[in-house]
Amino acid sequence: MKRVALITGSSRGIGRAIASELAGEGWAVCINYLTRRDAAESLLEELRGRGCMAIACQADVADRAQVAAMVRRAERELGPVRLLVNNAGISFQGLFQDTEDSAWARMLDVNLTGCRNAAVEVLPGMLREKAGCIVNISSMWGLRGASCEVAYACTKAALVGLTRSLALELAPSGIRVNCVAPGCIETDMVRVLGEETRAMLVEETPIGRLGRPEDIAHAVAFLASDKAGFITGQVLTADGGFTV
Ligand code: NDP
Repeated sequence: MKRVALITGSSRGIGRAIASELAGEGWAVCINYLTRRDAAESLLEELRGRGCMAIACQADVADRAQVAAMVRRAERELGPVRLLVNNAGISFQGLFQDTEDSAWARMLDVNLTGCRNAAVEVLPGMLREKAGCIVNISSMWGLRGASCEVAYACTKAALVGLTRSLALELAPSGIRVNCVAPGCIETDMVRVLGEETRAMLVEETPIGRLGRPEDIAHAVAFLASDKAGFITGQVLTADGGFTV
């Protein structure tokens, strides 16, 4: 049976590396983006050039109807979705008491409800097949907490709860749910923090460098593979030793 993966937020950064890695392993991939159509289409072209099956689909993960339309399109054009990688996410820096209601709500809508929206839309297909895999991208900040990133850290901690609870609920149906908690990874999300903060983060990382998107892609590919067939409800931290 054809292996079809949907990777949310895969036009750039970690999601892009995950889509590329999975495509290289023979998965047909649905690339999802919000605004950067150019980036999504350049990845699409690259993957098709490598002989991989892929489509690119615009959808705001916070919007259930848009997610539903994307999943239906992926099913129609690629086949039933066997792997969902909930990667799309946004970050926000600021004091807790200065966080506007709208910023707080958007963080929850994208980072947490977005994962729920995608999961509920792919699950009917997975339940029918009694097979499937979901990998949620949390963050080490969700595990240890982060000053001036309370909203972000809350959503990422919630993904750990979502992962463990859903893993228990879906295990009897042959569906595994796991989580990857990245450390500091070189993407646009970290570049906006500036050179000084970046250098500080490198200093604090025992392995002595920031992570590369590919470091996370390898962890996701492992959890999605048959080699991880007995692993569910787990958090795989990939942070160069930051939280040890
Ligand atoms: P980037 O900001 O580099 O990329 C974010 C991706 O998510 C883009 O493809 C973007 O699409 C997409 N996206 C954002 N909002 C939405 C939305 N509402 N609907 C659909 N797609 C959306 O982020 P990273 O690659 O750094 O992060 C990816 C994930 O990894 C996030 O969940 C993040 O929290 C997590 N993470 C990142 C860490 C890091 O150090 N970089 C550390 C720990 C966790 P578009 O291109 O169209 O804007």
